[in-house]
Amino acid sequence: MSAAARRHRPFGHWSPEPGQPWVIAGPCSAESLDQVLETARALKADGRTQLFRAGVWKPRTRPGAFEGAGYNALEWLQIMRTEVGLPFVIEVGNPQHVERALAAKADAVWVGARTTVNPFYVQEIAEALKGSQIPVLVKNPIHADVGLWLGALERLDKMGLSDLAAVHRGFFATHPEPYRNDPRWELTFELRRQVPDLPIFCDPSHIAGQRDLVESVSQIAMDLALDGLMIEIHPQPDEALSDATQQLTPARFAALLDRLARYLEHADPGAVSTRLSSDRDQLDQIDAQLVELIQHRQEIVERLAHRKLELGASVFQMDRWLDMLDQRESQAAKLGLDPNYVKAFFELVHRYSVQHQAAIYQEQRREEA
Ligand code: PEP
Ligand code: MN
Repeated sequence: MSAAARRHRPFGHWSPEPGQPWVIAGPCSAESLDQVLETARALKADGRTQLFRAGVWKPRTRPGAFEGAGYNALEWLQIMRTEVGLPFVIEVGNPQHVERALAAKADAVWVGARTTVNPFYVQEIAEALKGSQIPVLVKNPIHADVGLWLGALERLDKMGLSDLAAVHRGFFATHPEPYRNDPRWELTFELRRQVPDLPIFCDPSHIAGQRDLVESVSQIAMDLALDGLMIEIHPQPDEALSDATQQLTPARFAALLDRLARYLEHADPGAVSTRLSSDRDQLDQIDAQLVELIQHRQEIVERLAHRKLELGASVFQMDRWLDMLDQRESQAAKLGLDPNYVKAFFELVHRYSVQHQAAIYQEQRREEA
């Protein structure tokens, strides 16, 4: 493996040491001047944080929860910048926030997950930011739609804001366990495919939702070659006024950064490709066989559909489906495979099989009519 360090995709005028990830860190919310200063001093002393984050206005799911210290918080952040020397980034959710943020000379702003979902809000924010050259981060929308994420970035770009980055903070899911938000990493690959030069940071705090998982999510982000991390840090996490379960102490954060292994993108792509080619050839052969098997399966499904139709049976038979799933899951477990993987695979196979049979029924009916 060559020793070439990771090339940082540019964002703002800050950059980490070669080979280190980009780091944005700070409390979920700015709660008091003391809390802001204590956190910032610890991060400054550690030296690996490029931008200090803090929520000034907090978008809370239910009214009555702590909604941020607002204008006071902005003043604390300005004091922090003068006294501690870290640039700061805050969330803006509407044009008034933008006006305040620009007046306070915020070093960067982010658009939150609850805002990215709404093109009207994003457009208003983009218009309010127009004319400033401020760096802007866009969090993924709450639901898993890369189009909305890209759309928000495009709205900002059209207003002349060219210093952009994305933040991946996971997606709403009914059962995201063990996480608070489902990472759906594949959506970051799609964003990267569409905008290769855009830095993509991961926010493991909002994905994990609990302290003990923040490190492993951070490591996955690095292993997938994301550009950096946005992490919530609080001097007394249990007493935090928002997101208490997921914030880390500065000491735990420093230990996390010490342990983080970073080795992706350091290797020469040509050498990687040569060394992996024989395993990849074998996978290609297996995949080609899978497609042939799927085709063979489909022929049998078609025969079956015609037989069912002759017998007057319905396309879908619950007992048979549950039985089949059961058999495949226990086979998977015996072979040491994750039964959920095999279950998801057969749910897809079955969905297409049912669709195909329903189409055959319809065609047959049309012919008979
Ligand atoms: C936050 O970063 O504190 C926040 C509110 O994030 P999100 O928009 O990702 O929920
Ligand atoms: Mn938070």
